[in-house]
Amino acid sequence: MDVRYLKNTYPDFPRKGDNTAAYDEEPIKDLISTYVKSILETCKPQKEDRGDLYVGNAGIAYMFWKLSRSRHTRDLWPTALQHASTFIRKAKANAELFKRRSSLQSYSFLCGSAGIYAVSAAISEALKDPQGLSKDLASFRAAMPSDKDTGGCDEILVGRAGYLSGCYWLNDVLADQKIPDEDLIAVCQDIVASGRQYSAKNHSHLPLMYAFHGTEYLGAAHGLSGILHMLLESPWFRKGHSLASESSLFDISAPADVLHDLKRSIDCILTLQNDEGNFPITLEEGNDRRLVQWCHGAPGVVYLLAKAYLIFKEHKYLQAIERSADCVWRRGFLRKGPGICHGVAGNAYVFLLLFRLTHDTIYLYRAHKFMELLTSDEFKQKARVPDRPHSLYEGVAGTVCYLVDLLEPEEAHFPFMDVFH
Ligand SMILES: [Zn+2]
Repeated sequence: MDVRYLKNTYPDFPRKGDNTAAYDEEPIKDLISTYVKSILETCKPQKEDRGDLYVGNAGIAYMFWKLSRSRHTRDLWPTALQHASTFIRKAKANAELFKRRSSLQSYSFLCGSAGIYAVSAAISEALKDPQGLSKDLASFRAAMPSDKDTGGCDEILVGRAGYLSGCYWLNDVLADQKIPDEDLIAVCQDIVASGRQYSAKNHSHLPLMYAFHGTEYLGAAHGLSGILHMLLESPWFRKGHSLASESSLFDISAPADVLHDLKRSIDCILTLQNDEGNFPITLEEGNDRRLVQWCHGAPGVVYLLAKAYLIFKEHKYLQAIERSADCVWRRGFLRKGPGICHGVAGNAYVFLLLFRLTHDTIYLYRAHKFMELLTSDEFKQKARVPDRPHSLYEGVAGTVCYLVDLLEPEEAHFPFMDVFH
């Protein structure tokens, strides 16, 4: 048996019978309390920290901000917003320190300072601090990638697509649209140009291709699917509402050649799905090496496919996500820990995504079972403790975000990857 995951011993959802099982909120809230208490006991904001969203204080701040917004948890942790403020203040102070010695581009979002300023802007608005908000937004916008940024990269953790994810998120959560369409489209155009240039130079059969440190990754964190997903979130594919019905429509204003290259690249990725529903880590490795986690493999590729399904309405994308979810159910109970990047909660988000897409209660059932698995003795005994056990992407801060979303599955979304906004 693959040592990367524990055997899922739960029976799958019984298709017959009552499909409207009610789930008890208390075990979820108890688990949230356990994790949050351990974060507050262990993560002192004054500790030296690089501050970022991925493993730093800004990620913890994001979790507290999320707790303060949810109607299910804001009474559970009435001081959540104050904690968010304390953690983000320290993250910003360290961002200033690290700026001078960091080799990262200023637009790096999840692993850099741009993400810190974005989350700080949301917290400033929640605290009704207009001066703080405008300062944070100015810092975030000053980091906007431009066509003068030669080199650099395009992926989600440190590249241009990650910065875009922050722009979309800010426009969603702040009262007004703060990042104008022309800025977003300019970044998208740079990403498309970079992908075409790489593809031509390396004779790729995909019209848009990218490499990170010389490797053609396909997953959400470093690879093609995360980058293409952020292009699909652009104003080129703006969501409108039909007057005749409640169903949402997408007005596609992307230039025809961009649309062609994007669609062809997405459909090339689709052909790489294997029989069990997973995707390879890289284009070079083909089907040899496979991981089942958000950063590499199906649990991250599904966000691109979900957005493609919502925009193009082609059933093949939804079917591919359903196959991915079956793969996650079988092989997604990872020993690597509870987190969202390469852990149980990140994989369980696939079920919440499919629940929102299909309203099929099998996915809600599976999402709850993954939560139960986190509390099982086997997981406690056999799971590894990540390097940053309380952080947003490797640790339990991300798991808390998942659990908050489990309390409100109709609103659930993986952090900074909301395909429904
Ligand atoms: Zn990972």
